[in-house]
Amino acid sequence: MTEEMSHDILIVGGGAAGLRAAIAAAEVDANIDIAVVSKVFPMRSHTVSAEGGAAAVLREEDSLELHGFDTVRGSDFLADQDVVETFIEKAPEELIQLEHWGCPWSRDPDGRISVRAFGGMSVKRTVYASDKTGFHMLHALFQTSLKYTQIRRYDEWFVSSLLIEDGKCVGVTALDLETGQLHPIVAKAILLCTGGGGQIFPFTTNASIKSGDGMALAYRAGAALKDMEFVQYHPTGLPGTGILITEASRGEGGHLINKEGERFLERYIPGKMEMGPRDILSRAIMTEMNEGRAFEGEYGGYVHLDLRHLGEKIIDEKLPFVRELVVKYVGIDPVHEPIPVRPVVHYMMGGVSTDINGNTSIPGLLAAGEVACITLNGANRLGSNSLTECLVFGALSGRAGAQYAVDQKPVSQNAVRSLADKEQKRIAKHFLEKEGGTERVASLQEEMHLTMEQGCGVYRTGESLQESCTTLKKLRERFADVAIDDRGRIFNTDLRGALELEFMLEVAECIAHSALAREESRGAQSRLDFPERSDEKFLHHLLAYATPEGPRFEQQPVTITRWPPEERKY
Ligand SMILES: Cc1cc2nc3c(=O)[nH]c(=O)nc-3n(C[C@H](O)[C@H](O)[C@H](O)COP(=O)(O)OP(=O)(O)OC[C@H]3O[C@@H](n4cnc5c(N)ncnc54)[C@H](O)[C@@H]3O)c2cc1C
Repeated sequence: MTEEMSHDILIVGGGAAGLRAAIAAAEVDANIDIAVVSKVFPMRSHTVSAEGGAAAVLREEDSLELHGFDTVRGSDFLADQDVVETFIEKAPEELIQLEHWGCPWSRDPDGRISVRAFGGMSVKRTVYASDKTGFHMLHALFQTSLKYTQIRRYDEWFVSSLLIEDGKCVGVTALDLETGQLHPIVAKAILLCTGGGGQIFPFTTNASIKSGDGMALAYRAGAALKDMEFVQYHPTGLPGTGILITEASRGEGGHLINKEGERFLERYIPGKMEMGPRDILSRAIMTEMNEGRAFEGEYGGYVHLDLRHLGEKIIDEKLPFVRELVVKYVGIDPVHEPIPVRPVVHYMMGGVSTDINGNTSIPGLLAAGEVACITLNGANRLGSNSLTECLVFGALSGRAGAQYAVDQKPVSQNAVRSLADKEQKRIAKHFLEKEGGTERVASLQEEMHLTMEQGCGVYRTGESLQESCTTLKKLRERFADVAIDDRGRIFNTDLRGALELEFMLEVAECIAHSALAREESRGAQSRLDFPERSDEKFLHHLLAYATPEGPRFEQQPVTITRWPPEERKY
């Protein structure tokens, strides 16, 4: 093993959380040696596609108290409130810091940074850069990261396993996709910033790289996944492709209309209408679909998002990307015609269980960003809190990881080599040198999609979830017989796809079992057989640990500081 394959802190992921963490780690000490490993070039991380904006209190008419309450109410009182307090306090400085690093926030004519309305937020507090916020944020972070020569990047390297020695995480194995070589990379601290796993579902806004890798890696290594039952549907995706039509389009005044021409949200959330939170709006659209008041198209039911009354000037100024996407992918112009939309999977509230500094239960292993469940978002995330979460907790965990690394002794290279050998043999035996094998990655993935949509979608029942658990168990067994066609080394996307599906099946199983275990409706979890929220039985987090028989559950209390649970009303 060459010397440069050993670092102080290794960050898996080059999205907003990973790059913010790398910069924070570099600022701890100029001598800290940092690695950022990413399966795609960092600027292609999913963060780049975020459109709407990032939330923080920047105006006098707003207050930290209100941002905190909105977040806790949005979470259906499952967020840990010490985490929420840290988040709202640090959010403004993080967004201003990003401006100083070059992020071109949109501005009002008086020169102040603009803010827009977002679902579930009581006042306008979402900062944005037109409707390409993630693109500009990621550029600012990436360019800033280049300033630090101690950050070494491994672009297009795919992490396949975590190396655990004596109960501590001491590195990863990563496949250099260009050469097909598997390398161990040793580090004293490993920080997972691998994003979410929307690809587990058939209709999603998530890029194809979002396959829950980090969640599965941590779960396999013995860490807990927390609150996995809470999967967020975004109410306005394009049918078929799942491409997101940003919440900013409703924030700027767009209307949701059914087949009868009604603004049907009057029936569900008259106080907030289009500015209601995502879980409630997604359920409203699904109910309109189920009760025959939606349009029918090639990809099933849909409703209309009407922007026409905003006029061409506002659309071009505030929502140019929405216009571009709809013209390109639906072939209509939203200035003249309403946009067909349906709920699509968008975000995972659950993830690798961490404390406020990103530490997991495995020493040396941390997590931040969408892969982590820290728990800011509880049972339902408010739009525009996620990008800010990546900055606030990316920075905190980057710092915590770097400080932890400074105090650790160097890792024994021999132990790591033998762990890496094992992983190399596993990949050869199950994929690259396997004889026979009758199952196909694409068909297993399709069956996973079907059972997740039918059993674990917007509405769930004990029966539908049980069926998904049974199907997923069978799919995991059948995966053992999977065959890939490409046995080559260079850019073997066939192999990468198989490894990603293996991750997704494990995460999917965890989602289905967690949803079955939570016998109540709260936030994004809507159980038709348990339609009420039950604080008496379920005001706690569910921690899932991997066992050969499926997940084993433990409970963890919710931290409540300032906002006692009450009925969630809008
Ligand atoms: C279309 C869209 C629009 C959104 N709009 C908004 C918005 O307006 N406001 C908001 O707050 N939130 C928004 N979100 C949510 C938000 O963008 C994400 O939650 C956030 O960007 C996640 O950032 P991250 O750094 O955690 O992960 P990502 O940006 O997803 O990055 C993950 C990184 O991990 C790497 N990686 C993953 N697996 C591996 C592996 N096995 N080996 C090596 N590397 C790996 C990837 O290469 C990548 O670099 C949106 C999400 C989507 C999908």
